[in-house]
Amino acid sequence: MLRRLRPRRQAIGLTFTVAVASALAGAIFAQAPTAATGAAPPTSGMPAFAPADSTRYLDTVKGLTAPAMEGRGDDTQGINRAADLLAERYRSFGLEPAGTSGFFQPFSVITGAKLAGNNEVVQEISGDKQQLKLNEDFVPFSFSASGQASAQVVFAGYGATADEFNYDDFRGLDVKDKVVVLLRYEPSGFAAKAGNQGLTRHAALITKAINARNHGAKAVVIVNGKVGSGEEDALTRFGTVSGPENAGILLVQVKNTIAQGWFQVAGKSLESVQDQINSSGQPASFAFPNTLQLQLDVNIENTRATVKNVLAYLPGKTDEYVILGAHYDHLGYGHYDSLAPSQIGQIHPGADDNASGTAGLVELARMLAPLKGQLPRGILFESFAGEELGLLGSAEWVKEPTRPLNKAVAMLNMDMIGRIRNDKIYIGGVGTGSSFTEELASAEKGFPFHVENSPGGYSASDHTSFVARRIPVLFFFSGLHSDYHRPSDTWDKINAADAAKLVDLVAKVALEIDENSQRPAFIVVADRENPHEGVATSGGGGGYGPYFGSIPDFGSSDNGVRFSDVQPNSPAAKAGLKGGDVLVKFGEKKITNLYDFTDALRSSKVGDVVQVSVKRDGKELTVPVTLEQRR
Ligand SMILES: [Zn+2]
Repeated sequence: MLRRLRPRRQAIGLTFTVAVASALAGAIFAQAPTAATGAAPPTSGMPAFAPADSTRYLDTVKGLTAPAMEGRGDDTQGINRAADLLAERYRSFGLEPAGTSGFFQPFSVITGAKLAGNNEVVQEISGDKQQLKLNEDFVPFSFSASGQASAQVVFAGYGATADEFNYDDFRGLDVKDKVVVLLRYEPSGFAAKAGNQGLTRHAALITKAINARNHGAKAVVIVNGKVGSGEEDALTRFGTVSGPENAGILLVQVKNTIAQGWFQVAGKSLESVQDQINSSGQPASFAFPNTLQLQLDVNIENTRATVKNVLAYLPGKTDEYVILGAHYDHLGYGHYDSLAPSQIGQIHPGADDNASGTAGLVELARMLAPLKGQLPRGILFESFAGEELGLLGSAEWVKEPTRPLNKAVAMLNMDMIGRIRNDKIYIGGVGTGSSFTEELASAEKGFPFHVENSPGGYSASDHTSFVARRIPVLFFFSGLHSDYHRPSDTWDKINAADAAKLVDLVAKVALEIDENSQRPAFIVVADRENPHEGVATSGGGGGYGPYFGSIPDFGSSDNGVRFSDVQPNSPAAKAGLKGGDVLVKFGEKKITNLYDFTDALRSSKVGDVVQVSVKRDGKELTVPVTLEQRR
C-alpha cells in the first residue's frame, strides 16, 4: 500500500514522518493471533469450493519474502522472480494466460533519478570564479529540472507567498530569470497561526519551487539556515527527498558556509537576516549586488525499469467478469518511501505489504480454478507491479486493459490483509456498487469478523485506478502497524489463520457478485478530493483548499492534469468540464502536474471565479469555475 495517494511519486514531506508516525501511533499493537476455526461453509446455492489453506497461504508469503525476491522492489531482479513464481502458480491451477505476453503485461516505470553528465555550480564574486564541489558544497534535488542558468541572485526569505498570513517573501521583488536563494522550512509562527503542529505547506520544497517558478525565477538554491543544536548543516543525499518527476525549475541545495559568503558580498549575515524574519514576522528579501553571479548546470536522468503485471483468467459462461487483485511489488532495499531511512539498503520484505494480499490471490486462484466454465461470469486475477511507485500497475491495466473494461463488473482488491487482530477488518468502497451492501451482508454470515466499512473507493491502493474508470470496487485491509514500510515487516508476524478466513470471505463476496444476475451499478461516492491527499499531508496539513470536483487520472502526469472524471454537481461539472479534459491552466497559473494543480487550488478561496483552461480533442477551452466550500 502506498504511504498515501499521490501523483506518481512520493510527495515531498519535510514533515511526513510526523504525520505518518502519528497515524501509526494509534495502530501499534500487541500481536494476538486468534486460533483458526476453519472456513465457513459456502452459502447455500453457491458452488462449493475448498476453503483457503493457512499453511499453504503462509508458504506463499514465505516464498514471496525470501531473500532472492529482494523485497520485490520495482528496480530489482527479485520482482521478476516473484512474477515467475506467480505465473507458475496460475499455470499450475489451469488458469488461462491473460496478459499481453502469456501471463505477463510488461510496462515501463520510472524507478528513480540519477545525476548524469555535468552537474555544476559556479559562483562569481567580483569577477572571481569558483566552482563548488558536488556533494560537498552543493547537491541538486532529484526532481530538479535539467538545464542551465547564469544569472543575478536574489534572496527571497523562505520563498513563501502566504496570503492567509498576509505574508509574501516575493512582495516587491523582481526575480524574473534570476537565481533565488531560499531558506529551508518556513517563518516561525506559521504553524501556530494555522493551528497546526509541525509545519504548514509553505515548508514543503515543492511549494517553494512552484512558487519561485510562478514568480519567473530560473533556479532555486536552498540553504538550511539555522540548524538545531547538535545538528550539522548537512546536504540532502541525492534521491532521498522525492517529488514529481520534474518540478519545472532548477533546484539545488548549497551549504550555509557557501551562502554566508554571498551574504557578506551584500554586507549582511545569513544568520541575522533569518533572525530578523522570524522576530519581526516580516519578509527581509533583497537582491544581492551585481558583483555576485551564479551559474548552474543540472543534469538529471530518470532511471527506468520494465516490470510486469501478472494476469490469469478463469472463464465463466459469459464474457463479463469479476476482477480480483493484489499488488505484489514492495520497496526492495528501501527507497524514499521507507519509514526506516537509516535501514535503506536492507531488504524490506513486505510480508504484509503485500505478500499477504498476493498470497491471498494465489489461494483464491487455487480455490476457484475447479469452477472453470461453471460461473455465470469469469474471474480475472490481477497481480500488480508498480503499486508502491504510485499505483502504476493498475493504472497501466486500466489504460491498456487486456479484457474489455466495460465487461468488468467489479474489482476486489486485497492490500495488507495479514495482520488481523481481534477479528477486526476494514472494507472500503462499499458505497461504490449498488448491490455491495446486500452481497457483503450475505457473504459475511458465519464469519467472526468485526467489519468496519467505508463507502468511498479512493484510497492509497490499486482499486483507486478502477474507481476512476467507474468500476465498482471493494478493498480488503487488516490495518496499519508499526512494521509498515520497514524491514521488520516479516512473514513470522503474519496471522495466517485469520488471513485465510478473510480469503474465504473474499471468495464468497466474489461469488455473490459473480452470481447476481444484476451487475452492480457504479455509484459515485462524494469523497473529499482525495487525490490531493498526499500533497496536502506533506505540508503538515492546511487543508485541501476549496472544492473543485475533479478526479485526476493517476496514470498520466506530463503537460497538464488529465481528469478521469468529474464529480456530479461539483464546480467542475457545473462549468461543463468532463472526464478526458486535460487541465493546463488555473487562473494565471500554468498547470503541468498535480502538484501545480494542488498548489493553485489551495491558494484560491471559496467563492473565487477562476478561469480554467483545459485541452479537449486537441483544442484549448477556457471556462469560469466558481469554487465552493468542500463538503
Ligand atoms: Zn506499501
